[in-house]
Amino acid sequence: MKIINIGNRIVNNYLILTPKGWLAIDTGYAGGFKRFVNGLASHSIDIFNIKFIFLTHAHDDHAGFLGELMNATQAQLIVHDHAVKRLLSGHNQRIGGCSGTLAKIFVNSMVLFGKGKHEFPPIDVSKKAIIWDGTNQPLIERGIPLKILSLPGHTSDSIGLLSKDGELFCGDAAMNGFPSVKRNIIWIENLEDYRNSWDTMIKANAKTIFPSHGKSFPSTDLEKYYPYLQEIVLR
Ligand SMILES: [Zn+2]
Repeated sequence: MKIINIGNRIVNNYLILTPKGWLAIDTGYAGGFKRFVNGLASHSIDIFNIKFIFLTHAHDDHAGFLGELMNATQAQLIVHDHAVKRLLSGHNQRIGGCSGTLAKIFVNSMVLFGKGKHEFPPIDVSKKAIIWDGTNQPLIERGIPLKILSLPGHTSDSIGLLSKDGELFCGDAAMNGFPSVKRNIIWIENLEDYRNSWDTMIKANAKTIFPSHGKSFPSTDLEKYYPYLQEIVLR
């Protein structure tokens, strides 16, 4: 499938061309909408051709301009069941911990860059989203060959998308950039769920993993680094 990334160095904004128009994955930090619109223009994409918005989870760096993008389009939003309450709260849930010492230092340093509050504009999506509870495949049912995967652990509402060509958009179930070590994510709400989600991704038989943070990488990396998940202690 045709994939474009109009994100920045911090967070990716993937756009996938489906038979029904563009599907946007996540919406970056609050304040990033103008940059996103400019990114669309640089690829000659009409914002009205965004037909779906797929939210991998309700965190400040993924849901920042979700409301603005929804207002500017007729796109259908797809979120996990657990995301609805989280989106209404307007901030990341403060459960879980950092995956290591470097991750903890990084999280603490985010305060210096004004990203320490982990807030985003609250949004009520209860009546205007496809709310996924794991029992169906709303995109496949609409003729779009993208399968939703449940990938909890980073957060309980974490979901990913698997294309028929083996591209797996995993949100924050894995990452590939500083300060990640061995494709691990920085923040983990539930370590057991997180490990199980790596099992899910490995069994999905994807070719390439497209994380929300950092560059895409071969799915074989997941198998390679899987043993190190046992060493993680949340702090
Ligand atoms: Zn996150």
